[in-house]
Amino acid sequence: MTAEHAALLASLSWQIAMGADEAILEAPLERGLPRAPLARPAAPTIARMPPRPPTPHGAAAAALAAGADGLEALRAAMAEFTGSPLRETATNLVFSDGVPGAPVMVIGEAPGAEEDRLGKPFVGASGQLLDRMFASIGMSRARDLYITNILPFRPPGNRTPNDAEIALFLPFVLRHVALARPRILVLAGAVATKGLLQSREGITRLRGRWHQVSILDGQVLKAMPTLHPTYLIGNPIAKRDAWSDLLMVQREMNDGGIAATVRS
Ligand code: URA
Repeated sequence: MTAEHAALLASLSWQIAMGADEAILEAPLERGLPRAPLARPAAPTIARMPPRPPTPHGAAAAALAAGADGLEALRAAMAEFTGSPLRETATNLVFSDGVPGAPVMVIGEAPGAEEDRLGKPFVGASGQLLDRMFASIGMSRARDLYITNILPFRPPGNRTPNDAEIALFLPFVLRHVALARPRILVLAGAVATKGLLQSREGITRLRGRWHQVSILDGQVLKAMPTLHPTYLIGNPIAKRDAWSDLLMVQREMNDGGIAATVRS
């Protein structure tokens, strides 16, 4: 082997050691460009679910939500709501965590066992992963995030919330967003995405693109659906997709002049 071959081989092994053979983004990254083409193409028109006919419990939820003029009033209204059997099996109402008024509001699915026990969202294993994911883009729940769920009560056995439960609690979620006034929403998983986007499409088609969500007071917010941390724990290969989604969130915050400071 010539010295030139040896140098080329050494260079090649260094590039492999640095991960040059690993695809982490969906589109190739052209490093000469000032901005990486991380964004997926604009969201296609999505098939909406037909609105569900109103139910008496749904009307009660909507009236209680509309009457809440602040976050504490909303928490009290949700505690007062008797229209769901989930409250009978849950230990605690799980309302929110993080900073009210933070620029990013994360909406998850429903409390698990730890969340039910402590009365706070995302405090178990998936919450720890959520914190690490946001830390990787310089954001924390102590400073930049406000966090809630579609359901405030743990479904027995951690089963997935059904469509009727999602619809029942949606007026509370929309009022919660209107009162918390975030700049953008991050929809963690299929349930939050289905609830807020009212779409028939699955999370894998919807994630990685900005969507618009109409809030009750006429505001329209940008929403980024992404994969749920619990799914990522079981499918670590999918973390690259969630990472790409969060980079879009980071870019949106920076472009909007609200730079998330990287923790030292
Ligand atoms: N999963 C969620 O969606 N929310 C939580 O609060 C905890 C786990």
